[in-house]
Amino acid sequence: MAAKRAPFEIAEHRVNPGERRTLHLDLARLYTHTRLDLDVEVIHGRRPGPTLLISATIHGDELNGVEICRQLLKHKALTRLRGTLIVVPVVNIFGFIQRSRYLPDRRDLNRCFPGSEKGSLGSRVAHLFRTQVLAHASHVIDLHTGAAHRSNLPQIRANLSNPDAEGMAQAFGAPVILDSKTLDGSMRECADEMGIPLILYEAGEALRFDDSAIRGGLRGILRVLRHLEMLPPLQRTRPQLEPVTANSSYWVRAHYDGIYRPLIRLGQRVTRGQVLGLIASPFGNWEEPITATHPGILIGRTNIPLVNEGDALFHIARFGTVTHHAQRRVEAISEAIGAHRLPEDQWNSPDK
Ligand SMILES: [Zn+2]
Repeated sequence: MAAKRAPFEIAEHRVNPGERRTLHLDLARLYTHTRLDLDVEVIHGRRPGPTLLISATIHGDELNGVEICRQLLKHKALTRLRGTLIVVPVVNIFGFIQRSRYLPDRRDLNRCFPGSEKGSLGSRVAHLFRTQVLAHASHVIDLHTGAAHRSNLPQIRANLSNPDAEGMAQAFGAPVILDSKTLDGSMRECADEMGIPLILYEAGEALRFDDSAIRGGLRGILRVLRHLEMLPPLQRTRPQLEPVTANSSYWVRAHYDGIYRPLIRLGQRVTRGQVLGLIASPFGNWEEPITATHPGILIGRTNIPLVNEGDALFHIARFGTVTHHAQRRVEAISEAIGAHRLPEDQWNSPDK
Protein backbone atom coordinates (compact mmCIF):
# COMPACT_ATOMS: atom_id res chain seq x y z
CA MET A 1 0.00 0.00 0.00
CA ALA A 2 1.18 3.52 -0.77
CA ALA A 3 2.45 5.65 2.11
CA LYS A 4 -0.12 7.90 3.75
CA ARG A 5 -0.23 11.39 2.31
CA ALA A 6 1.30 14.14 4.46
CA PRO A 7 -1.01 16.72 6.04
CA PHE A 8 -1.38 20.08 4.32
CA GLU A 9 -0.05 23.01 6.34
CA ILE A 10 -0.80 26.73 5.95
CA ALA A 11 0.47 29.18 8.59
CA GLU A 12 -0.15 27.40 11.93
CA HIS A 13 -3.02 25.30 10.49
CA ARG A 14 -2.89 21.67 9.48
CA VAL A 15 -5.38 19.76 7.30
CA ASN A 16 -5.15 15.96 7.25
CA PRO A 17 -5.67 13.84 4.11
CA GLY A 18 -9.40 13.37 3.48
CA GLU A 19 -10.20 16.44 5.59
CA ARG A 20 -11.90 19.70 4.63
CA ARG A 21 -11.50 22.84 6.75
CA THR A 22 -12.11 26.59 6.66
CA LEU A 23 -8.94 28.29 7.91
CA HIS A 24 -8.92 31.80 9.30
CA LEU A 25 -5.65 33.62 8.59
CA ASP A 26 -5.09 36.73 10.68
CA LEU A 27 -5.12 39.60 8.14
CA ALA A 28 -5.70 42.89 9.95
CA ARG A 29 -7.99 44.78 12.31
CA LEU A 30 -10.76 47.23 11.42
CA TYR A 31 -10.63 50.68 13.12
CA THR A 32 -13.00 49.15 15.64
CA HIS A 33 -10.36 46.52 16.43
CA THR A 34 -12.68 43.87 15.02
CA ARG A 35 -10.55 41.00 13.74
CA LEU A 36 -10.34 40.69 9.99
CA ASP A 37 -9.49 37.19 8.78
CA LEU A 38 -8.59 35.93 5.35
CA ASP A 39 -10.78 32.83 5.12
CA VAL A 40 -9.35 29.96 3.15
CA GLU A 41 -11.18 26.70 2.42
CA VAL A 42 -8.88 23.72 2.04
CA ILE A 43 -9.93 20.32 0.78
CA HIS A 44 -7.00 17.95 1.16
CA GLY A 45 -7.71 14.77 -0.82
CA ARG A 46 -6.61 11.36 0.42
CA ARG A 47 -4.71 10.73 -2.79
CA PRO A 48 -1.82 12.87 -4.09
CA GLY A 49 -2.19 15.32 -6.97
CA PRO A 50 -1.78 19.00 -7.85
CA THR A 51 -2.70 21.87 -5.52
CA LEU A 52 -5.17 24.11 -7.31
CA LEU A 53 -5.88 27.57 -5.87
CA ILE A 54 -9.13 29.31 -6.83
CA SER A 55 -9.09 32.99 -5.84
CA ALA A 56 -11.84 35.56 -6.27
CA THR A 57 -12.56 39.20 -5.43
CA ILE A 58 -9.01 40.50 -5.50
CA HIS A 59 -11.00 43.45 -6.82
CA GLY A 60 -13.53 43.86 -4.01
CA ASP A 61 -16.58 44.62 -6.20
CA GLU A 62 -16.17 41.70 -8.63
CA LEU A 63 -18.77 39.34 -7.22
CA ASN A 64 -19.39 36.58 -9.77
CA GLY A 65 -16.34 34.73 -8.44
CA VAL A 66 -17.80 34.59 -4.92
CA GLU A 67 -20.87 32.77 -6.25
CA ILE A 68 -18.71 30.50 -8.44
CA CYS A 69 -16.70 29.54 -5.32
CA ARG A 70 -19.89 28.94 -3.31
CA GLN A 71 -21.37 26.65 -5.96
CA LEU A 72 -18.04 24.86 -6.43
CA LEU A 73 -17.64 24.22 -2.69
CA LYS A 74 -21.00 22.50 -2.43
CA HIS A 75 -20.48 20.45 -5.61
CA LYS A 76 -20.71 16.73 -4.89
CA ALA A 77 -17.84 15.90 -7.30
CA LEU A 78 -15.37 17.26 -4.72
CA THR A 79 -15.82 14.18 -2.52
CA ARG A 80 -13.70 12.35 -5.12
CA LEU A 81 -10.92 14.95 -5.20
CA ARG A 82 -7.30 13.96 -5.71
CA GLY A 83 -4.66 16.46 -4.68
CA THR A 84 -5.60 19.63 -2.82
CA LEU A 85 -8.09 22.37 -3.56
CA ILE A 86 -7.62 25.79 -1.94
CA VAL A 87 -10.53 28.23 -2.38
CA VAL A 88 -10.44 31.89 -1.32
CA PRO A 89 -13.80 33.46 -2.27
CA VAL A 90 -12.84 36.93 -0.93
CA VAL A 91 -9.22 38.03 -1.23
CA ASN A 92 -9.76 41.80 -0.92
CA ILE A 93 -11.91 41.81 2.21
CA PHE A 94 -11.59 45.59 2.72
CA GLY A 95 -12.90 46.28 -0.79
CA PHE A 96 -15.64 43.65 -0.50
CA ILE A 97 -17.04 45.24 2.67
CA GLN A 98 -17.00 48.67 1.00
CA ARG A 99 -18.35 47.28 -2.33
CA SER A 100 -15.25 48.82 -3.89
CA ARG A 101 -12.63 47.56 -6.33
CA TYR A 102 -9.90 49.10 -4.20
CA LEU A 103 -8.41 49.06 -0.73
CA PRO A 104 -9.23 51.84 1.78
CA ASP A 105 -6.08 53.76 0.67
CA ARG A 106 -7.38 53.69 -2.96
CA ARG A 107 -4.72 51.18 -4.00
CA ASP A 108 -5.50 48.32 -6.37
CA LEU A 109 -4.53 45.08 -4.58
CA ASN A 110 -3.84 43.51 -7.97
CA ARG A 111 -1.01 46.00 -8.50
CA CYS A 112 0.58 45.41 -5.08
CA PHE A 113 2.22 42.01 -5.71
CA PRO A 114 4.63 40.56 -4.70
CA GLY A 115 4.15 42.84 -1.68
CA SER A 116 6.22 43.28 1.42
CA GLU A 117 5.79 42.93 5.17
CA LYS A 118 6.68 46.55 5.84
CA GLY A 119 4.99 48.27 2.88
CA SER A 120 1.57 49.88 2.38
CA LEU A 121 -1.64 48.11 3.44
CA GLY A 122 -1.99 46.65 -0.07
CA SER A 123 1.62 45.53 -0.07
CA ARG A 124 1.12 43.76 3.30
CA VAL A 125 -2.07 42.02 2.16
CA ALA A 126 -0.33 40.91 -1.06
CA HIS A 127 2.64 39.66 0.96
CA LEU A 128 0.42 37.63 3.28
CA PHE A 129 -1.53 36.18 0.37
CA ARG A 130 1.63 35.33 -1.58
CA THR A 131 3.52 33.71 1.27
CA GLN A 132 0.63 31.99 3.09
CA VAL A 133 -1.61 30.95 0.19
CA LEU A 134 -0.20 31.39 -3.34
CA ALA A 135 3.14 29.76 -2.47
CA HIS A 136 1.33 26.45 -1.73
CA ALA A 137 -0.36 26.28 -5.15
CA SER A 138 0.89 24.34 -8.16
CA HIS A 139 -1.87 25.86 -10.40
CA VAL A 140 -4.13 28.91 -10.04
CA ILE A 141 -7.46 30.12 -11.42
CA ASP A 142 -8.12 33.78 -10.53
CA LEU A 143 -11.74 34.95 -10.95
CA HIS A 144 -12.62 38.48 -12.11
CA THR A 145 -15.42 40.47 -13.75
CA GLY A 146 -15.48 43.65 -15.80
CA ALA A 147 -15.13 46.91 -13.83
CA ALA A 148 -18.14 48.91 -12.62
CA HIS A 149 -20.65 49.55 -15.44
CA ARG A 150 -18.69 47.31 -17.80
CA SER A 151 -19.47 43.73 -18.79
CA ASN A 152 -17.13 41.16 -20.22
CA LEU A 153 -17.94 38.18 -22.39
CA PRO A 154 -16.74 35.09 -20.47
CA GLN A 155 -13.05 34.86 -21.38
CA ILE A 156 -9.77 33.46 -20.15
CA ARG A 157 -6.64 35.60 -20.03
CA ALA A 158 -3.34 33.82 -19.75
CA ASN A 159 0.26 33.86 -20.79
CA LEU A 160 0.05 31.16 -23.45
CA SER A 161 3.82 30.82 -23.74
CA ASN A 162 3.50 28.71 -20.56
CA PRO A 163 2.27 25.30 -21.81
CA ASP A 164 0.64 24.42 -18.45
CA ALA A 165 -1.33 27.67 -18.49
CA GLU A 166 -2.29 27.07 -22.11
CA GLY A 167 -3.53 23.56 -21.24
CA MET A 168 -5.68 24.93 -18.42
CA ALA A 169 -6.98 27.75 -20.64
CA GLN A 170 -8.05 25.28 -23.35
CA ALA A 171 -9.59 22.90 -20.83
CA PHE A 172 -11.59 25.69 -19.15
CA GLY A 173 -13.55 26.14 -22.38
CA ALA A 174 -14.60 29.81 -22.12
CA PRO A 175 -15.69 31.24 -25.50
CA VAL A 176 -12.50 33.30 -25.94
CA ILE A 177 -8.91 33.02 -24.77
CA LEU A 178 -6.88 36.21 -24.77
CA ASP A 179 -3.14 35.68 -24.90
CA SER A 180 -2.15 38.63 -22.79
CA LYS A 181 0.89 40.10 -21.14
CA THR A 182 0.82 40.31 -17.39
CA LEU A 183 0.46 43.66 -15.68
CA ASP A 184 3.03 45.08 -13.27
CA GLY A 185 2.27 44.14 -9.71
CA SER A 186 -0.57 41.74 -10.56
CA MET A 187 -0.95 38.36 -8.88
CA ARG A 188 -0.65 36.84 -12.35
CA GLU A 189 2.78 38.37 -12.89
CA CYS A 190 3.81 37.25 -9.40
CA ALA A 191 2.63 33.67 -10.06
CA ASP A 192 4.50 33.75 -13.40
CA GLU A 193 7.70 34.68 -11.58
CA MET A 194 7.13 31.91 -9.04
CA GLY A 195 6.70 29.43 -11.93
CA ILE A 196 3.03 28.74 -11.07
CA PRO A 197 0.71 28.54 -14.11
CA LEU A 198 -2.24 30.91 -13.63
CA ILE A 199 -5.28 31.55 -15.77
CA LEU A 200 -7.60 34.46 -15.18
CA TYR A 201 -11.35 34.15 -15.83
CA GLU A 202 -13.10 37.43 -16.67
CA ALA A 203 -16.88 37.40 -17.00
CA GLY A 204 -19.81 39.73 -16.37
CA GLU A 205 -19.89 43.05 -14.58
CA ALA A 206 -18.86 44.37 -11.15
CA LEU A 207 -21.50 44.37 -8.38
CA ARG A 208 -23.84 42.09 -10.36
CA PHE A 209 -24.43 38.38 -10.57
CA ASP A 210 -24.51 37.16 -14.16
CA ASP A 211 -25.93 33.63 -14.43
CA SER A 212 -24.12 32.70 -17.64
CA ALA A 213 -20.80 34.02 -16.29
CA ILE A 214 -21.29 32.00 -13.09
CA ARG A 215 -22.39 28.86 -14.94
CA GLY A 216 -19.45 29.15 -17.37
CA GLY A 217 -17.03 29.72 -14.47
CA LEU A 218 -18.17 26.71 -12.45
CA ARG A 219 -18.17 24.48 -15.52
CA GLY A 220 -14.71 25.73 -16.50
CA ILE A 221 -13.21 25.01 -13.06
CA LEU A 222 -14.64 21.48 -13.06
CA ARG A 223 -13.12 20.93 -16.50
CA VAL A 224 -9.72 22.15 -15.30
CA LEU A 225 -10.00 19.82 -12.28
CA ARG A 226 -10.57 16.92 -14.70
CA HIS A 227 -7.78 18.13 -16.99
CA LEU A 228 -5.38 18.10 -14.01
CA GLU A 229 -6.72 14.62 -13.10
CA MET A 230 -7.88 15.94 -9.74
CA LEU A 231 -11.36 14.64 -10.63
CA PRO A 232 -12.16 11.46 -12.60
CA PRO A 233 -13.18 11.96 -16.25
CA LEU A 234 -16.89 12.17 -17.06
CA GLN A 235 -18.59 8.89 -18.00
CA ARG A 236 -20.41 10.41 -20.93
CA THR A 237 -18.45 13.10 -22.71
CA ARG A 238 -19.84 15.38 -25.32
CA PRO A 239 -17.21 16.72 -27.71
CA GLN A 240 -16.00 20.01 -26.29
CA LEU A 241 -15.85 23.02 -28.56
CA GLU A 242 -12.43 24.55 -28.66
CA PRO A 243 -12.28 28.19 -27.57
CA VAL A 244 -10.89 30.72 -30.02
CA THR A 245 -7.63 32.40 -29.16
CA ALA A 246 -7.08 36.12 -29.69
CA ASN A 247 -3.55 37.39 -30.10
CA SER A 248 -4.43 40.96 -29.25
CA SER A 249 -7.30 43.29 -28.45
CA TYR A 250 -8.11 46.98 -28.63
CA TRP A 251 -10.49 49.49 -27.10
CA VAL A 252 -12.76 51.83 -29.03
CA ARG A 253 -13.05 55.10 -27.12
CA ALA A 254 -15.63 57.88 -27.19
CA HIS A 255 -14.69 60.80 -29.44
CA TYR A 256 -17.43 62.97 -27.96
CA ASP A 257 -19.21 63.65 -24.69
CA GLY A 258 -22.88 62.74 -24.47
CA ILE A 259 -25.51 60.06 -24.11
CA TYR A 260 -24.38 56.70 -25.44
CA ARG A 261 -26.29 53.70 -26.79
CA PRO A 262 -24.51 50.49 -27.81
CA LEU A 263 -25.82 48.71 -30.91
CA ILE A 264 -23.91 45.48 -30.50
CA ARG A 265 -24.01 42.49 -28.17
CA LEU A 266 -21.11 40.78 -26.44
CA GLY A 267 -19.72 37.92 -28.54
CA GLN A 268 -20.80 39.53 -31.82
CA ARG A 269 -18.46 39.83 -34.78
CA VAL A 270 -17.26 43.31 -35.71
CA THR A 271 -16.18 44.41 -39.18
CA ARG A 272 -13.93 47.34 -39.97
CA GLY A 273 -15.93 50.57 -40.05
CA GLN A 274 -19.01 48.96 -38.45
CA VAL A 275 -21.16 51.28 -36.33
CA LEU A 276 -20.92 49.94 -32.77
CA GLY A 277 -23.00 52.55 -30.99
CA LEU A 278 -24.19 56.13 -31.04
CA ILE A 279 -23.38 59.18 -28.95
CA ALA A 280 -26.04 61.88 -28.90
CA SER A 281 -26.94 65.10 -27.14
CA PRO A 282 -29.95 64.90 -24.82
CA PHE A 283 -31.82 67.35 -27.10
CA GLY A 284 -32.13 65.04 -30.10
CA ASN A 285 -30.47 67.50 -32.46
CA TRP A 286 -27.09 65.80 -32.72
CA GLU A 287 -25.93 62.19 -32.99
CA GLU A 288 -22.60 60.63 -33.98
CA PRO A 289 -21.74 56.99 -34.72
CA ILE A 290 -18.87 55.17 -33.02
CA THR A 291 -17.10 52.84 -35.46
CA ALA A 292 -14.67 49.93 -35.28
CA THR A 293 -11.17 50.47 -36.65
CA HIS A 294 -10.33 46.73 -36.99
CA PRO A 295 -12.36 43.53 -37.33
CA GLY A 296 -12.78 41.19 -34.36
CA ILE A 297 -15.23 40.02 -31.72
CA LEU A 298 -16.75 42.16 -28.98
CA ILE A 299 -15.47 40.86 -25.62
CA GLY A 300 -16.21 43.84 -23.36
CA ARG A 301 -18.60 46.76 -23.32
CA THR A 302 -19.50 49.80 -21.26
CA ASN A 303 -23.10 49.75 -20.05
CA ILE A 304 -23.50 53.21 -18.52
CA PRO A 305 -25.15 55.54 -21.04
CA LEU A 306 -23.24 58.64 -19.89
CA VAL A 307 -19.86 59.10 -21.54
CA ASN A 308 -17.04 61.59 -21.75
CA GLU A 309 -14.61 61.94 -24.59
CA GLY A 310 -11.85 59.35 -24.12
CA ASP A 311 -13.99 56.82 -22.20
CA ALA A 312 -13.32 53.23 -23.25
CA LEU A 313 -16.58 51.89 -24.73
CA PHE A 314 -15.91 48.66 -26.62
CA HIS A 315 -13.23 46.02 -26.11
CA ILE A 316 -12.60 44.05 -29.27
CA ALA A 317 -10.50 40.89 -29.54
CA ARG A 318 -8.52 40.41 -32.76
CA PHE A 319 -7.92 37.03 -34.36
CA GLY A 320 -5.37 35.64 -36.76
CA THR A 321 -8.00 33.24 -38.17
CA VAL A 322 -10.96 34.36 -40.26
CA THR A 323 -13.17 36.20 -37.83
CA HIS A 324 -16.50 34.73 -38.92
CA HIS A 325 -15.24 31.19 -38.10
CA ALA A 326 -14.15 32.53 -34.74
CA GLN A 327 -17.56 34.08 -34.21
CA ARG A 328 -19.38 30.82 -34.94
CA ARG A 329 -17.36 29.04 -32.28
CA VAL A 330 -17.78 31.89 -29.80
CA GLU A 331 -21.52 31.79 -30.40
CA ALA A 332 -21.73 28.04 -29.95
CA ILE A 333 -19.85 28.11 -26.65
CA SER A 334 -21.71 31.21 -25.45
CA GLU A 335 -24.99 29.51 -26.27
CA ALA A 336 -23.99 26.46 -24.22
CA ILE A 337 -23.57 28.61 -21.10
CA GLY A 338 -26.51 30.87 -21.96
CA ALA A 339 -24.35 33.95 -22.50
CA HIS A 340 -26.76 35.22 -25.13
CA ARG A 341 -29.47 35.71 -22.59
CA LEU A 342 -27.95 38.83 -21.06
CA PRO A 343 -30.68 40.99 -19.54
CA GLU A 344 -29.40 44.20 -21.12
CA ASP A 345 -30.30 42.86 -24.56
CA GLN A 346 -33.62 44.66 -24.32
CA TRP A 347 -32.04 48.04 -24.90
CA ASN A 348 -29.60 46.92 -27.55
CA SER A 349 -31.58 47.85 -30.61
CA PRO A 350 -31.64 51.34 -32.10
CA ASP A 351 -34.83 53.34 -31.57
CA LYS A 352 -35.69 53.53 -35.24
ZN1 LIG B 1 -10.64 42.33 -11.64
